[in-house]
This record gives sequence, C-alpha cells and structure tokens, in this order.
Amino acid sequence: MAGLCEGGNEPPGSLKATYNLSYNEFNLYSNFHRNRFSHYRVKSELYRVFKEECNSYNNIQPVAGRDLFVQLIKEHNIALFKPKKDECDLCLSYKLHNVSDDDYNAHQLKKERARREKSVDKKEAEEGDGSVVCYFWHEGEGVLDAHVFATCIANFLDTEIKDCDKNKNKIFYSDGCCAQNRNAVVSNVLQHYSVASGTTNMQKYLDYSEIQYYKSIRPGNTVGEPCVTDISALKYTPNVGILYKLNFDNDWKLIPRRPNTIIGSEKQLYTGPIPISTQKYVDLMSLRPVIPRDYHPFYEGLLHK
Ligand SMILES: [Zn+2]
Repeated sequence: MAGLCEGGNEPPGSLKATYNLSYNEFNLYSNFHRNRFSHYRVKSELYRVFKEECNSYNNIQPVAGRDLFVQLIKEHNIALFKPKKDECDLCLSYKLHNVSDDDYNAHQLKKERARREKSVDKKEAEEGDGSVVCYFWHEGEGVLDAHVFATCIANFLDTEIKDCDKNKNKIFYSDGCCAQNRNAVVSNVLQHYSVASGTTNMQKYLDYSEIQYYKSIRPGNTVGEPCVTDISALKYTPNVGILYKLNFDNDWKLIPRRPNTIIGSEKQLYTGPIPISTQKYVDLMSLRPVIPRDYHPFYEGLLHK
C-alpha cells in the first residue's frame, strides 16, 4: 500500500497526485466505515456520502472523482449490497434494521396467508384446461404503467373468455407492484367487465363508450387510514360495486367511493413505436456479433432517438 503513495512529488492537481491523495483518504475512510458500505445499494449513492463526509472531515481537495472512486472500491474489494431479486422494500428495510420485529412478523404472516390463498386457487386452475396466454412487450412498444397492464387484462377478457364462461367468477393474481393492481385504472377495467357481463349490451362494453369511472380505490380517506397498498384482495360486482379486503380472513367491505359515468373515455395510448435511447441502440448494434443473424432485423429496426 505504501508503494502506491510513492510519487508524492507529483505536481499538485495531476491525476497521479489526486489518485494518491484520494487513495489515502479513501483508505482512512473505508477503515472507519467498511461496515456501513455494505448498506448502500448503488455506487452513486455511496459516492455521494463519501464525498460529503470527506469534505466535512478535513476539507482536503480534491476528493476522488466518481470513476476513480469506483476503481478504489474495486481495489479494496468492497462489495455493495445486492438485494434479492424482487425483494420487497419492507423485507429489505428489516435487514438494514430500519423496521421493527413486530412489523416484520406481521408482514411475514400476511405473505404466508397470501401464498396459502394462491395455492388453493392454483390447484383449482390446474384442474381446468390449464391453458396459458402470455403477453409480453418491449420498451419500444409500451412502458410499465397501469394503462398497459389494464389493456392486457381487457384484451384477455375480450378475446380469451368463452361466452359460456362470461358469468363465472374469475380470479386474477399479480405481484405487489402497484402498476399491475391496486390502482384505479386496472380496477375500472375489471369493474367495467363485471358490469358488462351482467348486461346484454356488449357493444357498449366493447367500445368502452360509457364506463363507470372510479377516480380512486383507496379504502381510507384520511392520514393513518388504509391506503391501496394495504389491500389484499378486490372483488368486482355488477350490482354492488368494488369490494375490498385488507386481510384474506376479513369480510368483504365496500370501497367508500362513488363512480362517475364517463362517456367516450377510451383513448389510444400510443400512436406509434416509442423511440429507445441512442446509446441503447448503439449498444445493441455492437452486440450483433453475439446475436443470431435471424434476429438482427428486429434490433436494427428499433426506432431510436
Ligand atoms: Zn417482504
């Protein structure tokens, strides 16, 4: 390590002098804070804290730039904390000691209960014809927002449900991501279907020329009352409206909201492909040598900025 500090005679401000200075500073800093480093999820976040604290400690300038800093953490063999894929914020916060045992245990119980519920429904589904429909899209076709998920669900209900099954109960599952569920956009589509399946005027349903529109599906009204993220299940009924449960073992309750009737509400979300960034396009082009030739036209044809 001392070897790296040789060359102290370099002119101040030169890259090497900056490096040596930063290296010592970094060493000092990382020995004090090594344990805290693993709490950061992204390098930029860690770098921001590093820079702030370096400045407040000794006011020595210059502090390592971001690239040098990244090189230094690599050399020091410091790994950043990688959350498990799809780990929820609460589980992650608990690991970082920011959530109480009680809250975490309640969260775990809720999760186990949801899994039990799902396995019962899954068994029932497997006893049916077991067919599957997949919807997928790339970022040149649509983003990941509630409108896109609602469109997929509407398309599925319109095209995949046989007439004889229209009046049967249907159960939908999704993960906890609010764009996929527990939002008014998706709920309005499901409620619209529920109302329509009880009527004979299917055309009005299919062209969405008139819908009962809920602005919000929040079960509570004021601070401290339940939010959409507290909902465990929603039920769409043609006559009563939208019902919810905060826990699977509770009774259904009516959402405390009244819908407005909206005429001619359906709008085209996109009028053409969404351009991807130039940088991404350039990167994709550079990957062509490792992409099978048959797929090249797809990547080459992507609209980009
Ligand atoms: Zn969790």
